[in-house]
Amino acid sequence: MGFIKDIAPIFKKSEITFLKCNQEGNQLYTFLFEKPVNLDYKAGQHGVFTIIHKKIKKPSRPFSVATAAFEEHVKISMEIPEKCSEFKQALLQLKPGMKIQMRGPFGPLYLNEEKPAVLIAGGIGITPFRAMMKAAENNPSINQPITLYYLDSRENYLYKEELDEIKHPLITVNYMSKKDSLYDKLDEYITKQKNDSIYYVAGPQKMVKSVQNHLKANNISKSNIKKDIFFGY
Ligand SMILES: Cc1cc2nc3c(=O)[nH]c(=O)nc-3n(C[C@H](O)[C@H](O)[C@H](O)COP(=O)(O)OP(=O)(O)OC[C@H]3O[C@@H](n4cnc5c(N)ncnc54)[C@H](O)[C@@H]3O)c2cc1C
Repeated sequence: MGFIKDIAPIFKKSEITFLKCNQEGNQLYTFLFEKPVNLDYKAGQHGVFTIIHKKIKKPSRPFSVATAAFEEHVKISMEIPEKCSEFKQALLQLKPGMKIQMRGPFGPLYLNEEKPAVLIAGGIGITPFRAMMKAAENNPSINQPITLYYLDSRENYLYKEELDEIKHPLITVNYMSKKDSLYDKLDEYITKQKNDSIYYVAGPQKMVKSVQNHLKANNISKSNIKKDIFFGY
């Protein structure tokens, strides 16, 4: 899959209908939208979402689509602190039936089915991995192991119920609240798999950089690291 093919769907623009918003825990919100007919994408990719119901200064943000293409809805999740951006205030004002614009989904973060995968999520960075794991669970041709390490220092694990329900012999989910536990587990994984695996990392910039540096220091080649940096956290 080439760069152009991964990026081209950015030109696919749709207006999607807001259905509902669920507060999932402290400052964590999930927004559900109707899925446009024939919308196709790879689990893990992100869309660019634009507020169209009112005029605001910076109306667009990228968000990973947390649902796989076979699922019924387009789902995005995010942290919304009390003092939040105009964009997130506008999202919270959506009423069922109102629309926002989505470009994509597109981007290079999706599963390479030919290699074992380790998914490393920092907090809200779980969003693309939920989609990837849902897709993998329902894909009979998956024959490589998928290991999730989900780090959240507040133990506010988004989608935990759904992740716990995944019963697939090749999928393993590990929750951790301490960075040291993540690195211990990761070191065990690196010792076993070395460069015979793809390392997927998503979350706040500081976390992604730190994991990336750790992987590089352990001789994991750049071509085996795929990442989404969630700016603004
Ligand atoms: C490929 C990709 C995928 C992504 N996927 C996700 C995802 O699934 N979920 C997700 O949450 N994010 C995701 N992001 C990040 C997302 O696009 C936003 O950057 C992020 O959610 C922060 O948005 P914001 O509107 O809060 O931030 P910004 O407007 O950039 O604000 C940054 C900080 O300033 C504070 N701030 C902003 N305006 C005000 C104000 N008026 N008053 C007080 N404080 C203010 C905010 O609280 C925030 O902490 C993704 C990014 C990329 C590149």
